[in-house]
Amino acid sequence: MHQKVMAAGARIQENSLLARIARWVLKSPNVAMVIGKTIHLSGVSKEDFLKDRYWVEHELCHIQQYKDNGLFRFLGKYLIESCRNGYYNNKFEAEARRVGREQAGLAPESKTTRS
Ligand SMILES: [Zn+2]
Repeated sequence: MHQKVMAAGARIQENSLLARIARWVLKSPNVAMVIGKTIHLSGVSKEDFLKDRYWVEHELCHIQQYKDNGLFRFLGKYLIESCRNGYYNNKFEAEARRVGREQAGLAPESKTTRS
């Protein structure tokens, strides 16, 4: 997976303060968050993050969203979406979950809830 991260022009920042704040806000034991082309990690090592194919693909999708929209436009749109629909139903998160599952070869979300 590291190759793919490098090919996307992304870099990984471990023990990120930003990700630590996000962890606290989301009340999550571990967080990966993308700002521009940097994947900020907290509560998870780069090594363990890279082992999780779905997780990496999900964050790479966010990097693509930044590329498509531009840094500040994406942050603005993401914030508006989050305020309107919440974190989970935010369309950028929904897309990253769908693309992440596709790329990692997992079944679509709706089908797995019943298994
Ligand atoms: Zn996401």
